[in-house]
Amino acid sequence: MPSIPSSSVFLSDAASLLGPKGFTTDNDALIPSLTDWRGRYSGLALGMASPASTEQVSQLVKLCAKHSIPIVPQGGNSGMAGGATPDKSGKAVILSLRRMDAIRTFDADAGQCVCEAGVILQTLHEVAEASGLRFPLTLGGKGSATIGGLVSTNAGGTQVLRHGTMRAQVLGIECVLADGSIFNGLTALKKDNRGFDLKQLLIGSEGTLGIITAANLRLLPSVSARATAWVGLPSIVGARTLLRFVDRSMGDTLEGFEVIPDHCLSSVVDHLPSARAPLSDRHAWNVLIECVSGDGDSASLQDRLQNVLAKAMEDQLLSDAVIAANESQSEAFWTLRDSISAAERALGPAMQHDISVPVEKMPEFIEAAIPQIERTFPGTRGIAFGHLGDGNVHFHVLAPTGSVAGEWEENEGKNVSARVYDLVTAWGGSISAEHGIGQMKVDELDRLGDPVALSLMRSVKHALDPQGLLNPGKLLPPLPITKGD
Ligand code: FAD
Repeated sequence: MPSIPSSSVFLSDAASLLGPKGFTTDNDALIPSLTDWRGRYSGLALGMASPASTEQVSQLVKLCAKHSIPIVPQGGNSGMAGGATPDKSGKAVILSLRRMDAIRTFDADAGQCVCEAGVILQTLHEVAEASGLRFPLTLGGKGSATIGGLVSTNAGGTQVLRHGTMRAQVLGIECVLADGSIFNGLTALKKDNRGFDLKQLLIGSEGTLGIITAANLRLLPSVSARATAWVGLPSIVGARTLLRFVDRSMGDTLEGFEVIPDHCLSSVVDHLPSARAPLSDRHAWNVLIECVSGDGDSASLQDRLQNVLAKAMEDQLLSDAVIAANESQSEAFWTLRDSISAAERALGPAMQHDISVPVEKMPEFIEAAIPQIERTFPGTRGIAFGHLGDGNVHFHVLAPTGSVAGEWEENEGKNVSARVYDLVTAWGGSISAEHGIGQMKVDELDRLGDPVALSLMRSVKHALDPQGLLNPGKLLPPLPITKGD
């Protein structure tokens, strides 16, 4: 008698475990989860599981282990590296955490809250704000990114300079491991030396070591004062000197220090009908500075920043500067910054790289790498903008005029990226500053990563996921999938 395929038994067991709300094989329901939001990656899946509790996640993972079914965890599907998209084999199940969206506890006095993995970042911001608190991490995808996805990618954003990445916000986590066991590390302990820090191992593991089901997060007092400035100056090396000066002078109020070359400002002004350059003259480089404080009012903080920038001008650290007079002007400055990617996209195809090098080397890296790329690939234009204070810039290479979108990226664009990553590696940097490796950079990490670090990561992966079922092919090349019991 022919045996029933293991995947059919799995499908019927998963359906009875999770019920109609928690498991589907319906194509229409699956489609949005089979492609990443930028449409760069698409795949197929056996079905989508949407458990409602940690216990259900655990049961489902046990079932997957029993039938050797690969699992692709998915939160808001806003990731940049194709990490939440299944491959084209159709053998995996998507494990959506979106139904687990409860804020389990909220302790305003302690400045802590335990969120389930599916809580949307913007919801957490709103809940915190209603209690006079804030969660000090934000990013453009906040309306869809989930806590589980943010923890799993160790997301960054625009406040890392002062508050750190997601790692710094997580006080504890709960995670379902590959055999279905539940790691309960939610308690926030300031001191805990009972061996390895498993929480930190799981943060940033992109769903390859476990399924994050909840996180205990730190909250800070909300902002009462804000000062935003737009500065013009002649060189990126000068921007680093200004960063150090402002950092020393404004103490721990400095929250953002974004560098923007004139090319980017011009493309935004051309692209956005409402956009105006903040300074009357144009400068080779611009800096957007944001200072915030939980004490005092905006007028005092703005005066303080104004004095600091006046002194910087006296010392010839900058050419011109303007402080936003009110909230709407602050927002207008940030709109210029946040519109760069869209404005550059309107110019034609480009290869985009999320890279970091040590902060102290970044200006020299930019000055060396851009001409090297433009010489090697005639007609291209290199631009770098973003978080100078974090040693992390968006390094975009625009295609020569007339290049055909889709074709250029697939051909010359790939060589451009390989060269950018070679340069970053030679400068001691990282080919992924904040977006993760996903499926996008697996080959490049394998090519350029430190062999000792890669070997350690493979050993950890093998120890925690011996069957190779958790998000296979992401972060590391896939391990052969082995049979369960
Ligand atoms: P998904 O995209 O669903 O998944 C991302 C990865 O995490 C995948 O590998 C997935 O398998 C894994 N995963 C998801 N949930 C879990 C879980 N519960 N357990 C285990 N693994 C899981 N990112 C930045 O770092 N900085 C930025 O400034 C930034 N800006 C952005 C701006 C825009 C407009 C957009 C759309 C995105 C931006 N991002 C940025 C990327 C994205 O928002 C983050 O990577 C975010 O952390 C992804 O969260 P998500 O819930 O959408 O995860």
